Amino acid sequence: MQGIDLSTVRNIGIAAHIDAGKTTTTERILFYTGRKHKLGETHEGAATMDWMEQERERGITITSAATTCFWGDCLINIIDTPGHVDFTVEVERSMRVLDGAVSVFCAVGGVEPQSETVWRQADKYGVPRIAFVNKMDRVGADFSAVVAQMRKRLGAKAVPIQIPIGVEDGFSGMVDLVNRKAIIYDDTLGTEFHTADIPPQLEEEAEIARLEMLEMLADYDDEMMELYLEGSEIPVEMIKRVIRKATIGLDIVPVLCGSAFKNKGVQPLLDAVVAYLPSPLDMPHIVAVDPDDTSNEIEVKAAANEPFAALAFKIMVDPFVGRLAFCRIYSGHIESGMSVYNPNTRRSERVGRILRMHANKREEMDGAQAGLIVAIPGLKQVRTGDTLCDEKRPVLLENLTFPEPVISLSVEPMSKADQIKLAKGLEALSEEDPTFRVSVNEDTGQTLISGMGELHLEIIVDRLRREFSVEVKVGRPQVAYREAIRKPARAQGKFVRQTGGKGQYGDVVLEIEPLAGGSGFEWEDRIVGGAVPKEYIPAAQ
Ligand code: GDP
Repeated sequence: MQGIDLSTVRNIGIAAHIDAGKTTTTERILFYTGRKHKLGETHEGAATMDWMEQERERGITITSAATTCFWGDCLINIIDTPGHVDFTVEVERSMRVLDGAVSVFCAVGGVEPQSETVWRQADKYGVPRIAFVNKMDRVGADFSAVVAQMRKRLGAKAVPIQIPIGVEDGFSGMVDLVNRKAIIYDDTLGTEFHTADIPPQLEEEAEIARLEMLEMLADYDDEMMELYLEGSEIPVEMIKRVIRKATIGLDIVPVLCGSAFKNKGVQPLLDAVVAYLPSPLDMPHIVAVDPDDTSNEIEVKAAANEPFAALAFKIMVDPFVGRLAFCRIYSGHIESGMSVYNPNTRRSERVGRILRMHANKREEMDGAQAGLIVAIPGLKQVRTGDTLCDEKRPVLLENLTFPEPVISLSVEPMSKADQIKLAKGLEALSEEDPTFRVSVNEDTGQTLISGMGELHLEIIVDRLRREFSVEVKVGRPQVAYREAIRKPARAQGKFVRQTGGKGQYGDVVLEIEPLAGGSGFEWEDRIVGGAVPKEYIPAAQ
């Protein structure tokens, strides 16, 4: 197997508040990296980043796949990070497998509550970031206000390495403060642009911004500080080296600007990804645990000659290839035909094919080494969060725990004939998403779906319809309780106890007993839909 120089690999996520422009920015990245024929195509193919139609309709991204593209000599894997708060677990999982991220902000909305959530998660996992202030063409866009918000609300040491040229309708490019050059866009597709001298009206502003940038950077490098204090010219290569070092060290966040929609600023953003975000080699070794004794830690090294270990961070059902396990390889290498051990199931499975997903095609690979991300079709036992490893060195890369679902709904197919299709669909969806559960309530016989919020379940129902062609009726779960049927007309029942407490999915099982003298009662287990009658509800419990 031919190895790849890992210093040229970037595993990145694009994180953003809904509507900030994550999808558009990703689309443009895929366009400029030449993996897409024309703009707008991203959403048409099945193997694209946002392959679910509904994501576009709803304006949210909920799948977490990986797409490979090339920029210059670099291989960039874009790991899709979900933006909706209901899917925090998915966001966290994707944070674990990426090495760096691009945080997209809206130049008008700035730092919004959800940008804060995503930011904190990236902090938690120590993910180095660069920021892209998007939508500079919109009315009300304000680059420096967003930079100020990043500093104040996120506590980030935001260091602009560009300033915009013009704003709103007049936004035409940016000043590259590192190279002291203007980048001017000439055509609406953004493929044509040229570098020029900084426009005279921006010279002073750019000089002040550049000095501010150098002052902040000098804090992280003694040699640079010396030159800065002497007032000497600081070489461009040194500036780049220090930005890279301070970004990877989580000390600073370089800030760029642009308008993804108007095709401006995406190529410099890609250059910055390559220049400043870490390669897998820059990342610390991972500490795994022994599956038989989780107190025993094992260091997993990102070298190709180490035993194989990979994390299956996403299971997806691809409409053409079927079940796909997206894996980040942490050590060793994988080849087709190899057998991999899953310590969670204690079983081995054979790897048939290894794929790399591009925006518009799937690439068959013979093998892949540590640091890379691949998709493996055909693994039946693997679930999200499982480790795949060498049987001779079993490791658990992580013990992921998922929160309990907070809401349940009952589902039944519109047509009885669809029962099997429904079961298949639910099984596939629950394998893909560990926060989504399916159960059958023993008392009511109802199929219940449980998840992290109403939107989460709405999306599941929508996916059942689109991907599995099953229309379902959705309702509140029914409540099961034993109801006493009054025989002598005047006998009354009284609430005795709630058997088994509150059921796992919010169902309540109540037991009602006749009052003294109420002989002649007959018990009947009845399933009654809707709320428990008031008289059966204990006053205080
Ligand atoms: P996401 O929810 O973060 O994925 O955001 P999208 O990429 O779907 O963008 C949300 C909306 O903002 C869409 O209507 C885009 O067309 C629009 N949009 C994205 N980027 C820009 C931009 O640079 N300028 C303007 N004016 N609109 C943009």
